[in-house]
Amino acid sequence: MIQLKNSAQISTMMEAGRITGEALLLAREHVREGITTKELDTLIRNYIEKCGAKPSFLGYGGFPGSACISINEEVIHGIPSKNRVLREGDIVKIDVGAFYKGFHGDSARTLPVGKVSEEALRLIEVTRQSFFDGVANMKVGNRIGDIGSAIQHRVEENGFSVVKRYIGHGIGHDLHESPDVPNFGTAGRGTRLCVGMALAIEPMVNIGTEEVYEMPDKWTVKTRDHSLSAHYENTCALTSDGVVITTLVDKSW
Ligand code: MG
Ligand code: MG
Repeated sequence: MIQLKNSAQISTMMEAGRITGEALLLAREHVREGITTKELDTLIRNYIEKCGAKPSFLGYGGFPGSACISINEEVIHGIPSKNRVLREGDIVKIDVGAFYKGFHGDSARTLPVGKVSEEALRLIEVTRQSFFDGVANMKVGNRIGDIGSAIQHRVEENGFSVVKRYIGHGIGHDLHESPDVPNFGTAGRGTRLCVGMALAIEPMVNIGTEEVYEMPDKWTVKTRDHSLSAHYENTCALTSDGVVITTLVDKSW
């Protein structure tokens, strides 16, 4: 069942979202060659806890980190480690959640480490654009398929592929709620959108094949052909005045 949020609840989600977005901004300041994914995770955890919130992912299904940090061909769910060091030319995906006053924020960005290839930069930008194409379709009376269709169109017209095995989701009291929000689909199909819906829209985009697989650690997901992958996510709420993006702290990022 879809849990609709009233305006007071959406205001609280804005607070959880702000903490989530600020944790990502802090991580962005520290992404550079030589830092470990564990160090980034610790910065994120400390910031979230300093704000009086809890990292949504810590302990979720047994996940050992506060953020999912995935490098290059890793798509999502990378486990922070003191043995994973960022190198010049990498792209790193940082996915963060914060739970505050009973509500979650969930947001992800892909960052270049130093100088990266033109193709990697294009992948990151197309993934970001596809999110905004999706969110532009988050309107009362539209359907879930309108969001996914817009994302898929942007990605495929740029020659990349959308990951289909992992998708976006409703969000609120629980990190993952109904409805499912695929990053692909048919316009005009699926659940109708209405005021009070909160969705984590999160395109995952590969340069090569859409095929992915899970590593033996039971978390890290990689592209089958080891091509680069990018991820962009925000928590979005539909109000009578339109969409509010709770986790978008820096509007240009
Ligand atoms: Mg996320
Ligand atoms: Mg999510």
